[in-house]
Amino acid sequence: MIYLKTEEEIERMRECNRIVSMTHAEIARVIKPGISTFSIDKLSDEFIRDMGAVPGFLNYSGFPNSVCISVNDVVVHGIPDDTVLEDGDVVSVDIGAVKNGFNGDSCFTFEVGNVDEQVKYLLQVTRESLYKGIEKAVHGNRIGDIGNAVQKHAEKHGYGIVRELVGHGIGADLHEEPEVPNFGRKGTGPKLQRGMCIAIEPMITMGKRFIRQEKDGWTVRTIDHKPAAHFEHTIAITKEKADILSDFSIIDKAIEQNKLIK
Ligand code: MG
Ligand code: MG
Repeated sequence: MIYLKTEEEIERMRECNRIVSMTHAEIARVIKPGISTFSIDKLSDEFIRDMGAVPGFLNYSGFPNSVCISVNDVVVHGIPDDTVLEDGDVVSVDIGAVKNGFNGDSCFTFEVGNVDEQVKYLLQVTRESLYKGIEKAVHGNRIGDIGNAVQKHAEKHGYGIVRELVGHGIGADLHEEPEVPNFGRKGTGPKLQRGMCIAIEPMITMGKRFIRQEKDGWTVRTIDHKPAAHFEHTIAITKEKADILSDFSIIDKAIEQNKLIK
């Protein structure tokens, strides 16, 4: 069942996603070599609660922490721990926030210190592929149009697209119907309708697309140990172009300011 949201519900979701993006901006101000992933989790948890929300992933299906932090070859669902970030790492921080009965969900991949040019390019193309998908996310199109656009852009650059994990509908529940794969054929899948809210989240690998889940039941790594990137927006479908509820611009701004301070 696909739940269509009213305008009032979409505004509630905008608030949840604003909190998620502001949390990313807080992380952008502190992320650097020497910081542990657990300390990022802790500051995220505190910030989300200060904003009157609850971390969306804490205890979700038993996830032990407040945010997912995935370093280098970890694609998604990394568990924060005492791992210390090093110069050249890339770190995907996936954040959820629940407020007023609705969910926000967005992921941003950060660069730590000086990142290899090839890896920087992976991040750039992953982010571009997200926006290629969002361009197709309009009333009357189909889910397959989104996946097709993401896939075309990522594969044009020779990257792998993770297929086992997909985007999703989002609302009162973190994961609602429909599934939103990052691959597919144009004109296939459920029809997009005004009021649908979905999370589009390409997970793109520098090498082969194949992944393995570790024994902890969460951490998902590339089999070839090449890095992966993950960018995600929650959007609402409208008659015209998609209404993007999460916001990378405030994260970008925080990253720029952080560079100036150094
Ligand atoms: Mg997410
Ligand atoms: Mg998601």
